[in-house]
Amino acid sequence: MRTFHDHIICTACGTQYARNNGQHFTCPICIDDRQYIPESGQTWTNLALLQKKHGITTRMVREGLIEIQSVPAFAIGQRALLVLHPSGNILWDCIAPVNDAIIDFIRARGGVKAIAFSHPHYYTTMNVWADVFDCPIFIHEADEQWIFNRGPHVQLWKGEELSVSGDMTLHRIGGHFPGSSILRIAQEKEPAFICCGDTFYCSPSKQHLAAMYSYPNRIPLPLAEIKRIRERMQSIPFDALYGFYDYQDIHKGAKALLETSLERYC
Ligand SMILES: [Zn+2]
Ligand SMILES: [Zn+2]
Repeated sequence: MRTFHDHIICTACGTQYARNNGQHFTCPICIDDRQYIPESGQTWTNLALLQKKHGITTRMVREGLIEIQSVPAFAIGQRALLVLHPSGNILWDCIAPVNDAIIDFIRARGGVKAIAFSHPHYYTTMNVWADVFDCPIFIHEADEQWIFNRGPHVQLWKGEELSVSGDMTLHRIGGHFPGSSILRIAQEKEPAFICCGDTFYCSPSKQHLAAMYSYPNRIPLPLAEIKRIRERMQSIPFDALYGFYDYQDIHKGAKALLETSLERYC
């Protein structure tokens, strides 16, 4: 992990780049019209500084699902989700800070078999996480152009589905990014649940799920994309959904809510 300590990290989105000087460099993730450069300008930090300023907390979201978050919040306020599974744990998305306490916490629960991403707004310090746990990083090939710091653990996947481990399957849904994906976890005694990152955005009321090109810039998706996503999701059974932020947990009835939300766009 030490070799990455001085690599620059964008303070607005949390993406780490393989260089130690951010002068004359603008974060490509933030300059994209799905994100933004803050009015105060582009600023950088690094992992060594993050470890001094930010702790990491964990929360049991449901049986077999642990939330991992920076405290105080950093960048977009991302959370990572650790899916515990007898056939090997999956780290769903990453956060920029990494420290010894969270590494020990995850190791005590069996480590990480693979890291899988919903989309580029979570890539952050993915190479550090993969290096620590010596595991592959699964990214859909449609988002390859957004990998600016490609480490040896990155494995691109193709097509619409990838079985990651046991009952866990990645589904490429698209929309927000061409490779936007969800992770579906099938369960023996309960209906399946999905982790979706920004593929669907749960409103604070928890009465609506949005699917947008950009959430911070309020740029919608074309209607044809919404219709395609709606049809695609009809073939994927699930009952619970866990989104980008810590308030975006829907423990029951998430599929019906998604259907009525997407219907509203149409
Ligand atoms: Zn950025
Ligand atoms: Zn996003």
